[in-house]
Amino acid sequence: MTAANTPSPAALSRAVAESLPLAERLFAELQARTGDGVGLTRDAYGKGEQIAHDLVAEAARSLGLEVRADAAGNLTMTLAGRDRARPGWFSGSHLDTVPRGGNYDGAAGALAALAALTALKRLGHRPAADLTAIAIRCEEAGSWFGGRHGGHLGSRAALGLLWPGELDSAVRLDTGKSLAWHMEAAGFDPARVRSGPPLLGPERVRGFVELHIEQGPVLEAAGLPLGIVTSIRGSLRARSARCLGAYTHSGAVPKELRHDAVLATVELLGELDRAWDGVLARGQDLVFTVGKLFTDPEMHGLSKVPGEVRFTLDIRSQETATMRAMEAEAQRLAAGIGARRGVRFELGPFALSEPAAMDRGIRERLAEGCRALAIPHQEMPCGAGHDAADFTRVGIPAAMIFVRNQGGSHNPGERMEIADFGEGVRLLAWFLATADLPPPAGAGFAKAG
Ligand SMILES: [Zn+2]
Repeated sequence: MTAANTPSPAALSRAVAESLPLAERLFAELQARTGDGVGLTRDAYGKGEQIAHDLVAEAARSLGLEVRADAAGNLTMTLAGRDRARPGWFSGSHLDTVPRGGNYDGAAGALAALAALTALKRLGHRPAADLTAIAIRCEEAGSWFGGRHGGHLGSRAALGLLWPGELDSAVRLDTGKSLAWHMEAAGFDPARVRSGPPLLGPERVRGFVELHIEQGPVLEAAGLPLGIVTSIRGSLRARSARCLGAYTHSGAVPKELRHDAVLATVELLGELDRAWDGVLARGQDLVFTVGKLFTDPEMHGLSKVPGEVRFTLDIRSQETATMRAMEAEAQRLAAGIGARRGVRFELGPFALSEPAAMDRGIRERLAEGCRALAIPHQEMPCGAGHDAADFTRVGIPAAMIFVRNQGGSHNPGERMEIADFGEGVRLLAWFLATADLPPPAGAGFAKAG
């Protein structure tokens, strides 16, 4: 591929501007057809997600892209390359939402990829290898499926990452039916997913770029339209931590004879908050949350010293060692506070999800694209899980573009300015048009992958 085949930034920007009305129309149709009266509900392997897939597939077909669904129902929309045997670039995100979620978490990435391919097609661009937009199933698996599963069921099914038996042990919360049942009912082929080989792998996928709305307020606070993700934080979570003390009369028992589970837990959490400050002061990445904290409503009372507290610990970082050190600190503090206050902490098992580093070569290309297109941006970690992490787990280089979002995510208030979305599409189209070019002389690129 030569530089002559690459559109100029001005031509590319024009073509992207011309493809944005299509994306706006699709966002509006998604809003109208998957609204639930409060927010948007696109249930994974259910009616809402299917409406979104049908809408996007129909748009892609009318644009002349090759449209297919894999055995797990993931939708691919391909602009054919000159060498069809060569692994090509993929870009996209999921089309499902949480119940009563927003219109942009997920859909922004799938529609950005479609808009970028539309712009390249409009320019008559013939890529060296296939360029594929992908709409992934069931990323919000935690909201729709219970039982035993590892989340991100659509991408993990495609990448060959499902655990043995997971197609049966993941059970939809509302219907009680298994993932395999729902996949089949939606017209797909769980037997093929089960038998392997993976539907997607490094032999077909050169790399994966996922555009997504930022789920926090960082870009809005910084006044920047785009972020380039450095890595997706891992998590270390205790779902069933407890502090066990003794229920006694609140008036009759002096302080030294109490086993107060609330005050002991409060001390532990205060100490962990200070430990978090220490980690940050050392320049390490960490976020720490106690999302659930409660006494037993069957047993507690205004005039009772509390005998039990249940809580959760959600520790996240770009480094596994930092999360493990925080876990060790929690255990050390719990033992000390427990002994001093006459209570017993049982923090329970900690479940680890490893961080996923984004590919350095792709990140440098994206930063180069921001410079070429004059898009203000910053690098930043990502705190939530995304399909992009699963691609890295099978050795596919992956990266993420964040788009500023004023309304948080997983709620009906998700907001994204179409102008910011347009900047994301420009960067994505530029990346897809130039990704297979050799790095410019002296630019110091690490080769992607
Ligand atoms: Zn998402």
